[in-house]
Amino acid sequence: MRWSQLLIPTLKETPADAEIVSHKLLLRAGLIRKLTSGLYTFLPLAVRSLRKVENIIREEMNRAGAQEILMPALQPPEIWQKSGRYDIMIDVLLKVRDRAKKEWILGPTHEEVVTTLVAGEISSYRQLPKNFYQIQTKFRDEIRPRFGLMRAKEFIMKDAYSFDISDEAAQVSYQKMYQTYTRIFQRCGLQTVAVDADTGAIGGKHSHEFMVPAETGENEIVYCESGEYAANIEKATSRIQEATSTLDTGTSVEKFPTPGAVTINSLVRQPYGVAMRDQIKTLVYLIDGKVTLVLMRGDHQLNDTKLAAATGGTQIRPSTPDEIFVALGAHPGSLGAVGVLGVTILADESLKNAAGMTTGANEDGFHFRHVNIARDIPVTSWHDLRLVAAGEPCPVTGTPLKIRRAIEVGHVFKLGTKYSESLGALFVDEAGEKRALIMGCYGIGVTRTLQAVIEQSNDKDGIIWPINVAPFTVCITPLSIASESPVMLVAERLYQELTERNVDVILDDRDERPGVKFKDSELIGYPIRIGIGEKSLAKGEVEIKPRKGSLQAVPAHDALEYILAYLKNNS
Ligand code: ATP
Ligand code: MG
Repeated sequence: MRWSQLLIPTLKETPADAEIVSHKLLLRAGLIRKLTSGLYTFLPLAVRSLRKVENIIREEMNRAGAQEILMPALQPPEIWQKSGRYDIMIDVLLKVRDRAKKEWILGPTHEEVVTTLVAGEISSYRQLPKNFYQIQTKFRDEIRPRFGLMRAKEFIMKDAYSFDISDEAAQVSYQKMYQTYTRIFQRCGLQTVAVDADTGAIGGKHSHEFMVPAETGENEIVYCESGEYAANIEKATSRIQEATSTLDTGTSVEKFPTPGAVTINSLVRQPYGVAMRDQIKTLVYLIDGKVTLVLMRGDHQLNDTKLAAATGGTQIRPSTPDEIFVALGAHPGSLGAVGVLGVTILADESLKNAAGMTTGANEDGFHFRHVNIARDIPVTSWHDLRLVAAGEPCPVTGTPLKIRRAIEVGHVFKLGTKYSESLGALFVDEAGEKRALIMGCYGIGVTRTLQAVIEQSNDKDGIIWPINVAPFTVCITPLSIASESPVMLVAERLYQELTERNVDVILDDRDERPGVKFKDSELIGYPIRIGIGEKSLAKGEVEIKPRKGSLQAVPAHDALEYILAYLKNNS
């Protein structure tokens, strides 16, 4: 392709509303333009890279035995009511009405549609396993669209759904997708970490997210340097440390006055001197309309995602001070669960066996000490509810955990029978019995992946495209464009030869100063630039500059072989 023919509107200035480097570069390199918040037009260069990412995904999905289909983006709300997600996902569903005022959903994901398809088409174990995927535009009413393609209202996803006859077979399908994802991201030139993840509104039992470590990521991942453990912070846990207090454990609880001491910290100070880890923090939540006490050790934070997962609650919020006073007879700061009956009490597992603890007495201005949780508090159930902090021991190796930020580019889930049961996707097994299909689902944010590549691979001059997903692999930059000049003849010849060898090549035939051309090609980040100028050509040479390497003078007649070898060794 000839540069002068393409719409490549590079910018000198950094657009003011772009916060992260990849978003800035997408705009500056002339890849995308914003229509309005969360909606972007992909310009020719971006479409080229996008198609390359999509094709890598297709090749790897097909290699894994998955079949490509294409489902409607417009979905009837009835199937969402059947699966129970019409209410659960109400916040992200974008809806439209037709001329008869009937409501439709613009698909944020396709479990309901694919399960309806399979319910009608697959009936016997002989037809299984199956894995169907599509690459399609998704719509989500994100609260805060931002960072360009990272969190958009409309984005492209590859979504796949597996159907199996048993848990063991479903595990095989899951494992296959896990490996396929690893290959896909590798081929895109992305470094990813697979982490244990929460299953959230999609439901299901088990899942991994593929994360791209980046300071600007919206997720936090907890990991052990040994490589033995990595999890999303929403799901991460740490080895439980012994909770027994160093304080006098006493034979019964003792109430003591604590006027004005309404925080964990105020009890740490004198005259009380109770360490954080020797306190029980009592949080009060309204979970699906029911008052629930949540007990944490004073030095631990509650992880909201774990609370939701432990209770299965859909409507969860902290109780208001008034609601708390009605339920417990005291205000926040003096709350506790000693002797509290008739209320659900959930406790973090690190409090099991805790004795000699201090906690609120449900009387403003008073606390209890010598609390022995097994003896004094009627805990309903124990859960892992802690938000892991850096430095806590790894659950596998015991060494201190680290935390870093990351971008989620893919997600694999074991779904079980949640959708097959609610939408009637049954099959007849070998014994002639009707059973629900075991499902898995697997998503890749295709457009987010494209931006994540840029976020991970750039420098002060611009993007550094990995060869496999670069919009063009080679940029030929003649320093003068007079037709029939020796410079242009060599440029045209190389352009021809590279094209014949199936190398994606762009010829910078713009009438611009060399400085502008070089800057633009660095900004866009083509993996290789071939500079052709009169001076070097007089010596029979062209100048080859890999985006990641230094400039090499190469004899003009060796340039083709040089580039082919470079591409072979670097993709
Ligand atoms: P997030 O937590 O970032 O909102 P999610 O858990 O809602 O993601 P999934 O429902 O698992 O995402 O969707 C599969 C993939 O689609 C994600 O891994 C991500 O790469 C991509 N994705 C999700 N929401 C968006 C969005 N608003 N814009 C761009 N890509 C998205
Ligand atoms: Mg989301």
